[in-house]
Amino acid sequence: MLTDNFGRRFYYLRLSITDVCNFRCNYCLPDGYQCDQPRDFMSLSEITRLTKAFGQLGTEKIRITGGEPALRKDLPDVINICKQTPGIKKVAITSNGFKLPEHLPQWLDAGIDAINISIDSLDPRQFHAITGHDKLDTILKGIDMALAHGKTEVKINAVLMREYNGYDIKTYLDWLKDTPVTLRFIELMQTGDNQEFFDAQHVKGSRIKQNLILDGWQPVLRDKSAGPAQEFYHPDYQGKIGLIMPYSKDFCNTCNRLRVSSSGKLHLCLFGEQGLSLREQLQGDDVEPLKQQILSLLGDKKATHYLHDKLTGGTKHLAMLGG
Ligand code: SAM
Repeated sequence: MLTDNFGRRFYYLRLSITDVCNFRCNYCLPDGYQCDQPRDFMSLSEITRLTKAFGQLGTEKIRITGGEPALRKDLPDVINICKQTPGIKKVAITSNGFKLPEHLPQWLDAGIDAINISIDSLDPRQFHAITGHDKLDTILKGIDMALAHGKTEVKINAVLMREYNGYDIKTYLDWLKDTPVTLRFIELMQTGDNQEFFDAQHVKGSRIKQNLILDGWQPVLRDKSAGPAQEFYHPDYQGKIGLIMPYSKDFCNTCNRLRVSSSGKLHLCLFGEQGLSLREQLQGDDVEPLKQQILSLLGDKKATHYLHDKLTGGTKHLAMLGG
């Protein structure tokens, strides 16, 4: 079992399979993806060994992320590998959904259990301004398809930004009346590359939380492999709302996830100084040495991130690691 020095257990692996992204989100990659080092992503065999080791160490949920994971042509194979791994009960993906209607059937065939799609605005012009792409209609069509399929959990991620959605969530609330998705507002996090943007745009989720409670929204009980969102439901709404507030007190106490980058580095925290390479141990079919390496590295996990002190570690932007 993966347990750290602070008694936290790690049921959840965020697996990045590429750091390439095709969107230019203003808070993440405003100038688009810059290829500043050779691409050396884990192969399917390496991913198979990695997930096997994590499955044997008690991991129950894997989220495939990126960059944009759908840019990898072998994504359905990756989903299938995760799905077939003993011990893994849930396979999820975080994507920008740029071709969701086309990709969804392949992901479903491969066994995906849950999809998270980023929609930072429900206004097409604002969506374009934030991401650099005019794709909102396509993405919403894909979401309708996923909901019609009925067997996949659908969540939406929206990063809170003062200028765009930080103060007016009415459009989202109207949408949630009849749309059975969980919409999670994520507080903008500072990274190495976005300091000015962060200072101008960061708003706290706590004010939205207070308003939701005043409006009769009630907390949902948290599952042990759940993410860090505080979720709320309301009898008049088909959708739920979650808030991810990394700057809130004790946020890291419930940390239950580890991350592996697309180049096979273990990241103990999203804002750690560096990743710790597992690559050598990913070459052989015996996963025991890999398991021992992961267990031993876990001893270095810190109690919290240092975002409050404006320390963002080695993380230039979240596309490097997948959020
Ligand atoms: N390309 C995929 C996507 O768009 O969802 C997966 C990678 S993206 C890095 C994962 C999530 O991180 C997205 O929901 C994105 O909005 C969020 N994200 C990126 N940078 C962020 C930041 N600085 N603060 C908060 N969330 C951020």
